[in-house]
Amino acid sequence: MAKQVTIVAGDVSDQAVQWLKAHGAQVEGFGLLTITLPEQAQVHKGSHGWDYTIAFYNDEGNDEASWIEIELYIDAYETSLSLKFDGDRDCSCKGRGCAECVEELAAIARGENPYAHHTPVPTTPPQSPAFTYVQDGTEHQARSIDWNKIFG
Ligand SMILES: [Zn+2]
Repeated sequence: MAKQVTIVAGDVSDQAVQWLKAHGAQVEGFGLLTITLPEQAQVHKGSHGWDYTIAFYNDEGNDEASWIEIELYIDAYETSLSLKFDGDRDCSCKGRGCAECVEELAAIARGENPYAHHTPVPTTPPQSPAFTYVQDGTEHQARSIDWNKIFG
């Protein structure tokens, strides 16, 4: 069994949801979200005891410049997830992270997905059946027309 972490949280920014999905996490629910992280997620406990971080390695095996900060509350609706960027203090954004100093934000600004390596595109796209036919009262699905099957 793959080790998976599930978080239930009510205060998740849209940015954080997009980031989680881009990293292959499952986000379900409305209002109160159930977030299932992929096993590559690096979840670490913070110094306060009620704070955690979620991070991923980039395709070179280094920490990405973005991560999520979790603040746990007894009431899951209060539990918050927010996206953070490791910006440069010397940059005009003063370390808050912008497209000038964060590689991933620069890639997004160029219209690229810096997290694409976390969600590999399946080599064979899912195929939908070409058509449906009824034989002997049962519905069958076929990808190509096999007349012998239908009239044989
Ligand atoms: Zn900056």
